[in-house]
Amino acid sequence: MPLLLGCIADDFTGATDLANTLVRGGMTAVQIIGVPDGPLPEADAVIIALKTRTAPVGDAVAQSLAACDALVAAGAKQVFWKYCSTFDSTDAGNIGPVGDALLKRLGSGFAVACPAFPTNGRTIYLGHLFVGGALLNESGMENHPLTPMTDANLVRVLSRQASGGVGLVPFGVVEQGVGAIRREMTRLVDAGRRWAIVDAVTDAHLMAIGEAVAPHALVTGGSGVAMGLPENFRRAGLLPPRADADALPPMRGFAAVVAGSCSRATLGQIGLARDHAPVLELDALATPDAAALVAQALGWVDGKLAADRPVVIAASATPEKVAALQAKLGREAAGALVEDAVAAIAEGLVARGVGRLVVAGGETSGAVVQRLGVTSLRIGPEIDPGVPWTYANPTGLHLALKSGNFGARDFFLKAFSHG
Ligand code: ADP
Repeated sequence: MPLLLGCIADDFTGATDLANTLVRGGMTAVQIIGVPDGPLPEADAVIIALKTRTAPVGDAVAQSLAACDALVAAGAKQVFWKYCSTFDSTDAGNIGPVGDALLKRLGSGFAVACPAFPTNGRTIYLGHLFVGGALLNESGMENHPLTPMTDANLVRVLSRQASGGVGLVPFGVVEQGVGAIRREMTRLVDAGRRWAIVDAVTDAHLMAIGEAVAPHALVTGGSGVAMGLPENFRRAGLLPPRADADALPPMRGFAAVVAGSCSRATLGQIGLARDHAPVLELDALATPDAAALVAQALGWVDGKLAADRPVVIAASATPEKVAALQAKLGREAAGALVEDAVAAIAEGLVARGVGRLVVAGGETSGAVVQRLGVTSLRIGPEIDPGVPWTYANPTGLHLALKSGNFGARDFFLKAFSHG
């Protein structure tokens, strides 16, 4: 089975979301944690999950290039650079610098940037990113602990990060379909642009954009725009029909949720879970000590574990409390403290017989997966859009890695009603 699509993702939940999209599109997909040092597994798509969203720019570029080299060496026909559907980044990067470096490495001069994911309420209109009915900078993302997004105009945001000029393929063009999108991209290339933000408000737009970028060496965006890519490979006669791409071994063990996300959706999910399951809300501000938080959580959980409903352990806090802890410790140290604590709690839960674990938060998931020594994930059935159950190797654990803002309010309960 030759490798068709080689993907690089800037965080773990994003990688899973992308792998999920490709599996649903009929590709076999394996997600690898970090740049592999051996040969890649056999699959139509390999997704290399990095933890570079908030890494120093130089590190993010170096790791992304190493991942790109591994994918190209394995024969990837196209490279996909996946970042968050809310375009999470600081003005220093990392989306622009990594994208520029990948373009150069692949010997290409132009790529699209399209984080739209309409199923999850992320749409782009005239270059502006909306989350549900709100502009990005009024969606709660302006309060994100690590990557506050204060500008919804993606042409402006990417222009501050990338070199070579950023253009726009506007809604009116995207509406006209593949031919019009291609013509507009050619016009932008002729005008000296290296990047194009592409409007998209429906899945039909994403499918058209996906088809339009078939000849591109590099495609960048959220998992939404990857929806159109499997069909390109089928059209080219490279991808045969596949059944049961999402089958996993049976679930076993106790059920648990750990949360380090402070996003609105996660706070709502914790709120709903309180009425249906034991919920522990840790207060990192009152106890700014990872070991003490871990001891508190693992003491509390004693006798509460069950197979038919989860225990929920959350370090999540309101924007005011997050700001207070950051003022006390610094932004990075506050994030690292909570990530370390949640990862160690997850490890303790697995040691106590938890076999199915939901992790809320992108950075948090990265920390948990590293702590558990997971090297790859097989993608299983979808719980809510963008969040599948996965089966972790080599631990034999069912994991659902949920990006903070993803999932319906009952996600933490719904997840465990899956067989
Ligand atoms: P999301 O997917 O919602 O963006 P992440 O896990 O990526 O969630 O990011 C949330 C960040 O906030 C993590 O670094 C986490 O450690 C940090 N965090 C969580 N709780 C708190 C808190 N109470 N105070 C400060 N930072 C926190």
